Amino acid sequence: MEAKTKDLWVFVETNEDGSAKNVGLELLSPGKMMAGKQGGALVAVVIGSGVDAAVQAASEHGADKVIVVDGPEYKHYSTDAYVIALNALVEKYGPTSMLIGATNNGRDLGPRLSCRLKTGLTADCTALDIDEETGNVAWTRPAFGGNLMATILCPDHRPQIGTVRPGVFKKSEPCAAHAEIIREDIKVPAEQIRTQVLELLKEMDGENVDLESAEIIVSGGRGVGGPEGFAPIKALAEVLGATVGASRAAVDSGWIGHAHQVGQTGKTVAPKLYIACGISGAIQHLAGMSGSDCIVAINKDPDAPIFDVADYGVVGNLFEVLPVLTEEIKKM
Ligand code: FAD
Repeated sequence: MEAKTKDLWVFVETNEDGSAKNVGLELLSPGKMMAGKQGGALVAVVIGSGVDAAVQAASEHGADKVIVVDGPEYKHYSTDAYVIALNALVEKYGPTSMLIGATNNGRDLGPRLSCRLKTGLTADCTALDIDEETGNVAWTRPAFGGNLMATILCPDHRPQIGTVRPGVFKKSEPCAAHAEIIREDIKVPAEQIRTQVLELLKEMDGENVDLESAEIIVSGGRGVGGPEGFAPIKALAEVLGATVGASRAAVDSGWIGHAHQVGQTGKTVAPKLYIACGISGAIQHLAGMSGSDCIVAINKDPDAPIFDVADYGVVGNLFEVLPVLTEEIKKM
């Protein structure tokens, strides 16, 4: 379809309580820069039930306009209802591009919507810009097992749609809300929603690890040697108020749950402090944590590639270094 405007949309996903998920607010930061380069407005699209808090947050984090679809049928995410609503909005307003957070729901919604709109989708992006020559979105994502970063342009189709990993961009500081709020009443009849939420189960133990918004992460890799090797990692994490992360080698060995995995096939994180213990620094791990403000590496191999990205490095045995570090921090 043809774009009717130069506006760039950010889908701001909501939580069950009507607040905005972090990733949608994060995406407003690159969205602002890109909309500016394209000469259009930055539009946040908020869908859910009782979502005033998310609308307010989108407005405070830089949206020029917020399009809101609020109704009981949107309380729980469903592919059918959300695609029907977004499709109707895109057909009415014709944005030039749309960013969606690569959450579980976003990874479901993006492909389905792009198929409905007969456009393309660039999944799991880790960098965004506008190609100066063509004015298209330049979507960058890992390719070939994370061994190179590919930048993809979609010149022929509108809107250009992409999903973007949580934690890659930082939320802007909130400012006075100034966005124009546009309320759209899109009713989806129950028979068009082919799934029904019967019951929300408590999240599985360990699955509610919030690595993406953690300010400090202490991660363990194959160097911890087994599940019990995570004990000194957890002890340090506790005194620092940190969240525990892991490399894929540790997760694949069954030493810790997948929810803790950092990297290309795990979470992308950008904490203030990332402490990597017994992690070699493979490119797929770096893809998930190199945006951290300060990286500390503890590894017994002085040639481990993790030291190339570390701000501070300790060459040593993590089982000797971590208890000393933990005790010293306790004294502070
Ligand atoms: P290793 O590379 O084995 O490193 C262990 C390190 O521990 C070594 O440097 C060693 O010197 C050190 N060490 C050992 N004992 C001690 C000790 N007592 N004290 C201190 N240091 C010690 N990996 C991820 O992490 N996340 C991903 O999301 C991810 N996705 C992937 C996707 C694809 C498609 C592929 C192909 C791979 C992916 N990987 C991912 C795997 C990645 O390539 C590496 O295999 C993995 O990151 C290695 O984990 P590691 O650093 O813990 O283990």
